[in-house]
Amino acid sequence: MLHRRKFFQSSLFGSAGLVLRTGSSISTPVLNNPVVITTWEPNANATSKAYAVLEKGGRALDAVEQGVMVTEADPKDQSVGYGGLPDRDGKVTLDACVMDEKGNCGAVMAMESIMHAVSVARLVMEKTPHVQLVGDGALQFALSQGFKKQNLLTPESERLWKQWLKKAHYDPMITVENELKKGDRRPQPMPNHDTIGMIALDKAGNLGGACSTSGMAFKMHGRVGDSPIIGAGLFVDNEVGAATSTGVGEEVMKVCGSHAIIELMRAGYAPEEACRKIVERVAKRLGNNKASDLQVAFIALDKKGNYGGFSLIKPFTYVVKTQKGQKIVETKSLL
Ligand code: ASP
Repeated sequence: MLHRRKFFQSSLFGSAGLVLRTGSSISTPVLNNPVVITTWEPNANATSKAYAVLEKGGRALDAVEQGVMVTEADPKDQSVGYGGLPDRDGKVTLDACVMDEKGNCGAVMAMESIMHAVSVARLVMEKTPHVQLVGDGALQFALSQGFKKQNLLTPESERLWKQWLKKAHYDPMITVENELKKGDRRPQPMPNHDTIGMIALDKAGNLGGACSTSGMAFKMHGRVGDSPIIGAGLFVDNEVGAATSTGVGEEVMKVCGSHAIIELMRAGYAPEEACRKIVERVAKRLGNNKASDLQVAFIALDKKGNYGGFSLIKPFTYVVKTQKGQKIVETKSLL
């Protein structure tokens, strides 16, 4: 993932809260500088897409949905959407969620055959009285909304699954080994999972977030990770900030990671510090030996446009785009 050599320290810029300039008797709202921040460096194009929506004055929710759709449609990304690595039965099952500035949210879990899980999650939020739809129910709902079924298993992902079947050993950290190294600049060992988590602040000063993944490669059929779980994989509180996660979902869920970060930010922690605290909580629960075998990472964005991230182990990168441009940040890590 580290194909850009130019790393930056996690930084704060663009303190861009909604300001009311009070002159004589008229208050003129000054628009925010938009910010979008996304897990993992390969999601640079997705981040640019989202920022373009924000720049035109679009809503944070629209920006993150359109951004995440870029990665969902990319067959080369084998941990999200089309081309995602399948479960141990050879089925690609997707998890996704969205959350808006009003605290509305929607999610789909273990959904097959529909590429844009993020958009189905949004429709669960907007068109049903529910928050989560799972498996066949999610698929049925997607079809009722006009989505078309398609085979999400690409020949390359099928080939890796068949190779995995020879040993059929499930290990959340390293199982696809050298195969994914071809043309891929990720350092080794390479986790067999990733997520696009994207959070944004729009010009109106509103926050939104989205998360999408095919989850752990070769997982048990029906396994659902943290990514579509509101409060674990994503949380947005328009008074405070937004946070999202990537890494071994089982560990993120056990600490309600993203929600915990928002509560720390509410109590005054800066985004990076809040992420660090929750990574420390994960590590403490696991003990250092176990913790160093897996990845858990978070990114967070506050209401003023300050952002940061932190990971359990190296490497973890995020992409951020503001009016100052787009950059890749390699976060600090605990171990
Ligand atoms: N959090 C995802 C899951 O557990 C995987 C990842 O982000 O690496 O499904």
